This record gives sequence, structure tokens and C-alpha cells, in this order.
Amino acid sequence: MTVRTRIAPSPTGFLHLGTARTALYSWAYARHHGGQFILRIEDTDVARSTQDSVEQILASMKWLGLDHDEGPIYQMQRLARYQAVAEQMIASGHAYRCYCTPQELDAMREAQRERGEKTHYDGKWRPEEGKTLPPVPEGVLPVIRFKNPQDGSVHWDDLVKGDITISNTEIDDLIIVRPAQEGASDGALGVPTYNFAVVVDDWDMAITHVFRGDEHINNTPWQINIFVALGVALPQFGHHPIILGDDGLKLSKRRGAVSVTAYEEMGYLPEAMCNYLARLGWSHGDDELFTREQMVQWFDGTHLAKSPAQWDPAKLAWVNAHYIKQADDARLAKLVQQQLATREIEAADHDHLARACALFKDRCSTTVDLAD
Ligand code: GLU
Repeated sequence: MTVRTRIAPSPTGFLHLGTARTALYSWAYARHHGGQFILRIEDTDVARSTQDSVEQILASMKWLGLDHDEGPIYQMQRLARYQAVAEQMIASGHAYRCYCTPQELDAMREAQRERGEKTHYDGKWRPEEGKTLPPVPEGVLPVIRFKNPQDGSVHWDDLVKGDITISNTEIDDLIIVRPAQEGASDGALGVPTYNFAVVVDDWDMAITHVFRGDEHINNTPWQINIFVALGVALPQFGHHPIILGDDGLKLSKRRGAVSVTAYEEMGYLPEAMCNYLARLGWSHGDDELFTREQMVQWFDGTHLAKSPAQWDPAKLAWVNAHYIKQADDARLAKLVQQQLATREIEAADHDHLARACALFKDRCSTTVDLAD
């Protein structure tokens, strides 16, 4: 078996540190096993996805040195494929068209809430033996729903968290394809929802190991059920805990920089970011400083932390200082030149700058410090 991993960012903003760490783990795992690493752009949220974000993400991946073997593959270019698989699932009895309008679904949920029930799809259009379905209403564009098994449970041995079991009674019939937006041209293809597109893609791309954040744990049972319905091999899943800010709360934009780009701008070196991100959720003995090559050599999917790691700016600065000290003076001079350029200071004498870097680099933890 060839190990094939992927990173699948949604281009709705910069590359988040959490996604960068997942990308690093997926990349290192593939490299460790002599496998392939694939980059997929999950751009089905048309309203929020932008080309600018795609470019930022690609640039950050490149900056971090996480080279991919295939891709970028864009989901919006694969709509016909998702539609075909959905039709195949309808034909095999694993999916069905649902003609409930949004208003009807709202009313359904409202009534459930009033009865004190957990909101769920009531199965109105779910075909069952001996059941007569309502007449198809006119003018309603249907969604396609997955016919999720109603009993039993989904179990997987998570590469990070160990055994996980979720009962099928907790999940209902998920929408897998939504009709094209109103006003789209005739015959426009529907758009898959995240859980469906991911399965079709992971299947088509022969992904063997899926690493991602643990906010997706509740999605995994649906994905496993869809894999099973399609009768195809399942990848192994590993869900990493979130990264916490230094205040113990979820790392978020409101409380500081969370994008790879921001750290590049703040004068961190890519090898320091990779080293620091790697340690945030994974360990190799007591090693704190290691090269990318060492990480690839050591990263075999074990020693991944089960509990959230805390972002530690002081430690990151310490790691960065180490790499600044080791960095070639001419390289630092170039980075400092760029920093100075953002302050509209022209530093044309490169050799002079390199000598200054040599003199000061032991005392600085970022190239911004050096520029100062
Ligand atoms: N687009 C999803 C995200 O950015 C990908 C999740 C996955 O890897 O399955 O969270």
C-alpha cells in the first residue's frame, strides 16, 4: 500500500496555524513512508471562497516547504463527478431526493423543539419498503439526502484519539447535494456538501490516511457510512486536538495572529515555524529542536498528543532565535532588506547588511528585531 495523505483547506481566508500543523503532519507522514501528499482546495462554499485566499494558501504552503505531489485539485471543478456518484447512490438505494422546502424544514424543527425533541430530519422523503411517498410538489428543486443507517453504530480506531464509537441514532439523513443556486443556468450541476465531497475525493484520490482537526470528529461517522454505502476502502482517520491560545481559549483571530502569513511578516523563519508547529501536538523524546529531515525520519504517526496544546509565543521566539543564529548572513540580509522596505527604508548595500546581521543575529529572535 502506498501511503497517500492530503490537506484540504477551504479558501475562505489565510492558511490557519491549525491547518498548517495538520498539513505538516500529513506531509511528514507521507514523506516518512515514501508516499504522496495531495493538496485539495475545498471551495464549495462559493459565497466565502476567494481566489485571493487560494493564492495565500498556496504561498504559505510553499513558504513552509510543504511540497505536494498532486494538486491543487479544486472541488468546484468536480461537480459532475459528485453528481454522478450521488445518482449512483440513488440508484442503489443509498440516497434519495427530498423535496422539503426550507420553510417546511424550519417548521419541522420548530415543532420538534416545542415537543422538547432534538431537531432532526423526520424522514418524510426517505424511501422505505411499503411506504408511499408524498406526490412530488411542483417547482421545488430537491436536495439529495444520504439514507443513513438507522441503527447500529459507527466505530473507528482513531490514529490520535484511539477508539471512537458514535451511534447512528445520533445522526440523521444528511444532505449530500444541494441544487444549483436559483438563477443558475438550466442544467447547472448541484453543489455537494462537505461530508459528501470529502468522501468522493478521498476515494478518487486513493487517500489512505486522513489527518484533520477534531472539530470534524462528528462528521466522520457520516463519511464512514458513505464509504461503506459506496462499498469502497476506508482511509484511516486521525483527529488532532485544537490549538489553544496562551490564554487557554481557542486560538482565534480576535486574540492575535493565527495565520502563517502573519508569522512570515513578523519575521519568523519557515524552518522555525515547522519545528515549533511539529512539537505542538507531537513529540520525539525530549527533542525540541530538529530539522525537517529529522522530523520526516521520526514521524511515523505515533506520539501524537490527545489533548490540546497551548500556543506559546515565548517558546516560538526561542525556537526562531535558534534558527536565526544558524541562518546564513546573506539570507538574513535579504529578509532584513524586505523588512526595511516595508518601512520605506532602502538598504542597498547588501554586504554591509549581511555583516550587520552577523553581528546582531545572536541577540535577535526575529528578522523584525534584526531590522530594528
Ligand atoms: N475543508 C475542511 C477544513 O478546512 C477539510 C477537513 C478535512 O480535512 O476533511 O476543515
